Amino acid sequence: MGSGEAGWEERSAVRVAPPVQPRKLAKVPFVELAEGRLQGVVSSGSDIARVYVSSIAAETHDFSCSTNNNRPCGGLGGGHRCKHLDALIDEAVRQYGLERVARYLKAGEGDDLRSLLQGTREKAPAAAVFSRFLRHLTYLEVPASPEPLTEMHWFPALGAVR
Ligand SMILES: [Zn+2]
Repeated sequence: MGSGEAGWEERSAVRVAPPVQPRKLAKVPFVELAEGRLQGVVSSGSDIARVYVSSIAAETHDFSCSTNNNRPCGGLGGGHRCKHLDALIDEAVRQYGLERVARYLKAGEGDDLRSLLQGTREKAPAAAVFSRFLRHLTYLEVPASPEPLTEMHWFPALGAVR
């Protein structure tokens, strides 16, 4: 008859505050219509150290996708987009609405924005997008922090990239 005692031990093990969970990024944690592009950051999974910076230029619809270490995305072809770019398009439509995104990109009329965008691969600067993403994260999670933005230091290659 030790069940009562076991129950007490279980109850005493319940924490008042849950432990901090490992950070889970949204699939597309950052989207913006800026600098003549639809651009943003697409997560490769749950690891913040592995994200892709993806962008699509207005008018030409040329696209680019690279990792935060500035390696070209392996899923990108000369004339076709990778899944990150398609995820970026979908998320932009969700956040801004189809009309606004299509107008910004000068994509023309149609319900399927993906098929309206027919650019080719280009090399776009990812550094500015990525640093805005980091600032965005900082504002979201530690709005009152007086600490400097130490996240910038783990990506030294960023400043050298053009
Ligand atoms: Zn990609």
